[in-house]
Amino acid sequence: MSGPGQKRKAKASAKSYLTMNRWNIPTWLEQEVIDRDRHCVYCGARFTSAKLPRRSRPSWEHIINDENIVTRENIALCCIGCNASKGTKDLAVWLNSKYCGHHGITRHTVAPIIRTALHSNNGA
Ligand SMILES: [Zn+2]
Repeated sequence: MSGPGQKRKAKASAKSYLTMNRWNIPTWLEQEVIDRDRHCVYCGARFTSAKLPRRSRPSWEHIINDENIVTRENIALCCIGCNASKGTKDLAVWLNSKYCGHHGITRHTVAPIIRTALHSNNGA
């Protein structure tokens, strides 16, 4: 019944360097997170321009590794380097990794959104 419809094309904006997300993140949330996370939520690398080396470019991150949790509390932007390192590790576990040690990433240096996640995640 519904015709082919018009596929809504993502507006090519200044943010178009960001890899299109594959996570069914609604556009409003995507935009909100893009506006919020101007830096990698982990290492703080700035997402400045398309000229960034690949590993410093932003990528979508599920703070809790559950792609069904698509909320502003769980969706963030981090650089590809951090994302690749974190992989499927638990946030708290990853913060103790060599990568984080090397990059000076601790629960105190991460973005507020991550600190919040750590708090609510740690239970006790
Ligand atoms: Zn990073």
